[in-house]
Amino acid sequence: MDTLFNRDITYLKGIGPARAKLLDNELGIKNFYDLLHHFPAHYIDRSRIYRIADINGEMPYVQLKGRFVSFAQQGEGAKRRLVALFSDGTGAIEIVWFNRIKQIAEAYTPGNEYILFGRPSQFNNRWSIVHPEVDTTASIAATSGMRGVYPLTEKLRNRGITSRTFHTWIQTALATIKTLNDPLPPDIISQYRLINALDALRHIHNPTTPKLLEQARLRLKFEELYLLQLNIQRYARRRKRSLAGVRFTRIGDFFNTFYFNHLPFTLTGAQKRVIKEIRADMGSGRQMNRLLQGDVGSGKTLVALLCMLIALDNGTQACLMAPTEILAAQHYETLSQLVAKMGVNIRLLTGSTRKKERDIIDRELADGSLHILIGTHAVIEDRVQFRNLGFVVIDEQHRFGVVQRARLWKKSTIPPHVLVMTATPIPRTLAMTIYGDLDVSVIDELPPGRKPIVTLLRYEDRRLDVYKSVGAQLRAGRQAYFVYPLIKENEKLDLKSLEEGYELVKESFPSYKVAFVHGQMKPAEKDYQMNLFATHQADILVATTVIEVGVNVPNATTMVIENAERFGLSQLHQLRGRVGRGEGQSYCVLMSKYAISADTRKRLELMTTTTDGFIIAEADLKMRGPGDLEGTMQSGLMLNLNIASLAADGQIVQMARDAADSTLDTDPELSSPDNSRLARLIARIFDRKIDFSLIS
Ligand code: ADP
Ligand code: MG
Repeated sequence: MDTLFNRDITYLKGIGPARAKLLDNELGIKNFYDLLHHFPAHYIDRSRIYRIADINGEMPYVQLKGRFVSFAQQGEGAKRRLVALFSDGTGAIEIVWFNRIKQIAEAYTPGNEYILFGRPSQFNNRWSIVHPEVDTTASIAATSGMRGVYPLTEKLRNRGITSRTFHTWIQTALATIKTLNDPLPPDIISQYRLINALDALRHIHNPTTPKLLEQARLRLKFEELYLLQLNIQRYARRRKRSLAGVRFTRIGDFFNTFYFNHLPFTLTGAQKRVIKEIRADMGSGRQMNRLLQGDVGSGKTLVALLCMLIALDNGTQACLMAPTEILAAQHYETLSQLVAKMGVNIRLLTGSTRKKERDIIDRELADGSLHILIGTHAVIEDRVQFRNLGFVVIDEQHRFGVVQRARLWKKSTIPPHVLVMTATPIPRTLAMTIYGDLDVSVIDELPPGRKPIVTLLRYEDRRLDVYKSVGAQLRAGRQAYFVYPLIKENEKLDLKSLEEGYELVKESFPSYKVAFVHGQMKPAEKDYQMNLFATHQADILVATTVIEVGVNVPNATTMVIENAERFGLSQLHQLRGRVGRGEGQSYCVLMSKYAISADTRKRLELMTTTTDGFIIAEADLKMRGPGDLEGTMQSGLMLNLNIASLAADGQIVQMARDAADSTLDTDPELSSPDNSRLARLIARIFDRKIDFSLIS
């Protein structure tokens, strides 16, 4: 393996300095290791030739055999192109090039036989192929079986680098490698029946049978995930070994008084279990880093409060950080009411806290008389100094970057226990990877008496009916949300549709007051509008997804989500969680245009059949891949998986996790000579990525 890293691709036949630079810029390929780990995205069967007459919209790639009938230059300037007609006797298809027109026109001779490979597309009712690969029949007679199709970028294509170019380079590189020391430990290789590293590379690039290809893919996916898990788990173990935490030994007056005299409801079984898990962790003498997952409305706040009271009982201060001012203020109100009669000193710190209050906070934090600080990002500023911070709660953590979390963590000489609360249900295999270094607690039970939200899918033609039902809710004294998508790519258009939507809602419900928020408003204006709705001065809130997180208005029983087809499932689920928070029956209407793909329809229909966040998250992960989840969670962990997929390869993720655990059980730092190759490989692969080991 080391030799692969040490061999620069500049010196590979056909590359040279200019192309090496291009490959590095475009795909991060610098050396033989990188090149050989640029895997085909899929394969084509070289023995299969399609008939032009049979081409239809279902074919991502086709291979054609025939002759060029004519070449003609068309267009001017930037639109200049070379158009050829290619015929195989069953029909003819247009072949188009936008670059290197002169060279191409000279390279191919009308009347000779060629094999073309490319993706057919339809334009003005005619089929064409843009920038196909072209081979003479003689040149590829020798190859048969499957050939890989390599992922490329636009720039590479424009410089004349094709999948076939990659294929050739990789063959040349492979031919120079006679032996390769396998980085995986022999016991892991035999336990999981993996093929060796060199064979895997050979078969992934040159599969001779489907079975060998499958074995190669398994080996390479496993390797990728195993290295990732080793990296995550090694740090997690190191942290657990080395980081002492404040030992919370006692349950005292704060906790007991609240529990026995002020608890507003009986805890659910899940809340009790989770509190026990957290207590055990905080009493262990090691620093706790725990993720608390619980669906919207599952009662995470109460759990957080009880745990904060344990921190107070042990003579430390606690801090709760929320992603927005509104949420922080809501938490502050809820919690200060709950502990109102207990002599707990609790304060709110946000960007808009006045100087006088800030000074009091500073003073009380320093002398230890402030028990609980609730706030936004403001709490991580350097001037905020605790006397004795023992416990930190981070609510809806996906809005925080890792760096911000790390700053909070450093506010105490002994790192405080950290509880990260999220309502984004994360499927297990993903949690295992993204939060591999966190312990996980789950509240999988809603408080009793909640009526499940009724979710309906409605198309544009039913809009009047939908408005009628909303009207009925409003007349009954309830409130309603109208949510519009605001997606970065087309902000202007989206904003326009949002503003039009606002006008339409005002016209349709003339006797009700309508508030209006979106992400581009000034924070003060946003807060003002939100507050109108929260205090029931407004009956309707027209909003973008800014309301996704945390807003709690139990009297709001209806949500209409416009263009629901444009949202991801998990996002719809988060949004829907804004209703169904009180006793009233709640409704969520997904408005969609009628013309949507079968997949989209399936997604939306799933929403109408379940309110279980975990089922929805699994489905979302399967349908959309993990990219979206990772994005919203800003996990800070750059996965960059080459071949494995967290969504599709759940079983391999589990295997890799088990294998990594067993390797680390005997060699926690990978410092034994047997594992030195493994350790070096991990260092190479992860050295450019963020070290998230010290981050909760
Ligand atoms: P989330 O997990 O979404 O943050 P909250 O903590 O805001 O949920 O709780 C949602 C609502 O449920 C709140 O109004 C809260 O007072 C209520 N609640 C929490 N725990 C219980 C319980 N055990 N029984 C009844 N209601 C509860
Ligand atoms: Mg909450």
